[in-house]
Amino acid sequence: MLKELLDKFYLDREKDKEQHHFYITDAGKCSRAVFFKFKNVPREKMEPRVLRMFDHGDYIQMQILNNLFSLGIVRASEIKIPPQELISGRADAIVTLNNEIYVVDFKSMNSMVFKNLEEPKEDNVNQIQLYLHFFKIPKGILLYINKDTLELKEFLVEYNSAVAKNLLGELSDLKTKITANLIPQRLIDYPENWQCQYCQFKEICSTAGAGEVKWDDFKKKIESLKD
Ligand code: SF4
Repeated sequence: MLKELLDKFYLDREKDKEQHHFYITDAGKCSRAVFFKFKNVPREKMEPRVLRMFDHGDYIQMQILNNLFSLGIVRASEIKIPPQELISGRADAIVTLNNEIYVVDFKSMNSMVFKNLEEPKEDNVNQIQLYLHFFKIPKGILLYINKDTLELKEFLVEYNSAVAKNLLGELSDLKTKITANLIPQRLIDYPENWQCQYCQFKEICSTAGAGEVKWDDFKKKIESLKD
């Protein structure tokens, strides 16, 4: 009945999510996983329950953004980075506090992760570093929201040009590999790395082995495994 309809709605929305350009969230992530997304490699399906949780997080973030608007400190929201060839992304907000400008990025999480959060997560820092880089704003705030209790934690992030340039350099290298159809090597600490724990390409990644692999050869291999 309704449950089946709602589950199907979420699963259909996830279908055919082929990627054609980099998003800010790809910065600092496993190159091989991003490569697989570009090549639309079959991935483990996410449960509709998890997809609904993502939506729930987005609603909570919208509520916090409305609160910031009510405080009169938001200069802009949902701001796209300036168009350029490599990457696209949209920062949640730019605010003014005590005459200083900050890029703000919201992140929502469950109680267990929130409780143990003593410093900003590395992938979130990478993301905000790129916003600071593209907007030429020296400071940002990562605002974490506990989805279960609505508690907040915030961390100040200062622009580090070396980090931002390194992230962009890595994406540029990955772009070359995507064009050359060369699957990047696995993460050095595979499978312990936290990204591997949540990776939707875990199975296919283990089939590909540790080193760089030619995509055309590997594609034939996975197609023959399907037969
Ligand atoms: S399993 Fe780990 S190394 Fe393999 S693609 Fe996923 S994140 Fe990358």
